Amino acid sequence: MKFYIKTFGCQMNVHDSRRIEEILTRAGHQLTADSKDAELALVNSCTIREKPWHKAISETGRLRKRKLKGQNEDLIVGLVGCVAQQEGENVFELLSHVDFVVSPDNYTHLPQIIEDIQRERKHVSVTGFTEGRPEDFLSIQSVSPYEVSAFVTIMKGCQERCRYCIVPTVRGPERHRAPEHIFEEIHHLVSLGVKEITLLGQKVNAYQVGDVTFASLLARIDQIDGLERLRFTSPHPRHMTPDVTSAFGQLRTLCESIHLPVQAGSNVTLKRMGRRYTREEYLDVVSRLRKASPKISISTDLIVGFPGETEADFKETLSLIREVGFTAAFSFKFSPRPFTQAQKMDDDVSEAEKSSRLARIHELVNAQESAFRAGLRNTVMEVLVEGKGRMPKQLSGRTRNYQIVNFVSPETIEQAAGKLVNVKITQVNPNSLEGELV
Ligand code: SF4
Repeated sequence: MKFYIKTFGCQMNVHDSRRIEEILTRAGHQLTADSKDAELALVNSCTIREKPWHKAISETGRLRKRKLKGQNEDLIVGLVGCVAQQEGENVFELLSHVDFVVSPDNYTHLPQIIEDIQRERKHVSVTGFTEGRPEDFLSIQSVSPYEVSAFVTIMKGCQERCRYCIVPTVRGPERHRAPEHIFEEIHHLVSLGVKEITLLGQKVNAYQVGDVTFASLLARIDQIDGLERLRFTSPHPRHMTPDVTSAFGQLRTLCESIHLPVQAGSNVTLKRMGRRYTREEYLDVVSRLRKASPKISISTDLIVGFPGETEADFKETLSLIREVGFTAAFSFKFSPRPFTQAQKMDDDVSEAEKSSRLARIHELVNAQESAFRAGLRNTVMEVLVEGKGRMPKQLSGRTRNYQIVNFVSPETIEQAAGKLVNVKITQVNPNSLEGELV
């Protein structure tokens, strides 16, 4: 059966879609990039904010129209991901054209569910959380040609309970993967040609299994022969202990870039959000990171218009952005999500005010990002070759501080994929850098 997957949301969902791809391919199905060819369409949904939730729902609506028009009457439609866990069987009341609903901890059941639906057309819902057994952390078994960067899940779930966040409800409690399985997967990926690993988890740096801490896990992965680069996402500031911050600058593979969600710059707002750190504690983490790795680039997540956020609170967020010098930020307007404590709070910042605050953040972060990138002109940077460039004869890759660089190369992507090359930056574009091989 030909299947198509549409993915919404975070890196975890992107990674999960890869796992689904492998599970279904191993069961004899074939992936197609064109939904019109598909006999089975999966929508991997996100519910972290209202907008991706709506997008996932309208994607299933689009598939429904095709079914109704008779273009693909037998199409099987499945809703997976966080909306599946959140809504369960309720999905069928809202979207009767959806055949099955499967939550992230239950993807191994997909081949059986599809077989059952092929035999007997009926609604199937499989949700709930597993214990975190080794098989629940399905690893990636194969990589595409020239795929030199891969994600490895080391933990899942979160019990932090930030007041705005639905993740603990839809991804369950924290479960940490056994270190030997993590090493096994990384060794396997490196043997397939992967050079860069990003460790993945909702609160990745809270990892601890027995006496293996997150810092000691990083140190052991750093020793793996053939691995060139190591990253992780998303860390919680509360778990950026000195042994983790000092790993930057000490470990050969750990790259000089980190995405460290702060959400707000005012202590009052942070407390109201339930973030369990202060502005001062966050700045202390940043100062330790800069001491360990002076050129580290730091990006973040921000929420504007959280209930009770005043103009003065918001100005503290702006001042924190300046003080840290974030080089990128994913910023969003607060929208109340079901099953969160913030849903019961008074959403008292007007839509217009939220939009205005968001625009002010964008302006400031864009200016900082431009200044940071302009400072890279004429420097020589190490680039991991990952794909073809924007123009003919160009290749493309990322620097250790996560900038995309395009450069002309005498080699083809087949010859150069996975190589580390030095490139002198000659031009700074809005979303990428251009350079010359040194
Ligand atoms: S740390 Fe907070 S924001 Fe992050 S997943 Fe957990 S509850 Fe959500």
